[in-house]
Amino acid sequence: MKKPLKAYSEKRNLKESKEPAAKVRKKAKGELIFVVQKHAATRLHYDFRLEMDGVLKSWAVPKGPSMNPADKRLAVQVEDHPFDYKDFEGIIPKGYGAGAVIIWDQGTYELEASKNALHLELHGKKLKGAFTLVCFRENQWLLMKKEDEYASKEDVTKKDRSVVSKRKLETLVAEFKRQKK
Ligand code: MN
Repeated sequence: MKKPLKAYSEKRNLKESKEPAAKVRKKAKGELIFVVQKHAATRLHYDFRLEMDGVLKSWAVPKGPSMNPADKRLAVQVEDHPFDYKDFEGIIPKGYGAGAVIIWDQGTYELEASKNALHLELHGKKLKGAFTLVCFRENQWLLMKKEDEYASKEDVTKKDRSVVSKRKLETLVAEFKRQKK
C-alpha cells in the first residue's frame, strides 16, 4: 500500500518551507472539517480540501468555487495534504508551490459519497449549503453548487479576505516579493 502523504513530502522541502509536516491525524473527533486556501502560485488558484481518513483530500480549483448552480468549476485533484495544513497561511518559499497562501474559507462539512461523486453540505463562513464534486476523468472533477437557499449569482470570490487573519492575499504576495529580493 502506498504510504499516506508520500507524494506530499516528496514534492516539497519541508526543512525550508513552514508548511506542516507529513503527519496523518489519528482519528476524526466530531465533525469533519474543510478548508479553502487561496494560493498565488505560478497561477492563482483555490485549494479545496476535505478532511477524510486523517488527511486532507485536495483539489486545485483555478477559478475558485461558485455559489451559482449554473457554474461548473474544474477541480483538479492533487496530492493529499496533512490535516494540519488546514491552519496554514503564509509564504511558501522557492520550490514547489512557491507563493502566498491565505485561508479563504473554513468550516465543517457533511459527506455522502456515491459512485464518482461526493455530495457535500458545507458549513463555512463563505461557502454554505449543498455542493457536488463529480469525477469525470482521472483526477479531473467538477465542483458545482446545488440549488438551495444559499445558491446565489453573486461572485463569492469577491469576498477576498482571509477568514482567519482578515488579510488579503495581495498583502502576503507583497511580502513574498520582498523576501525574494
Ligand atoms: Mn495550491
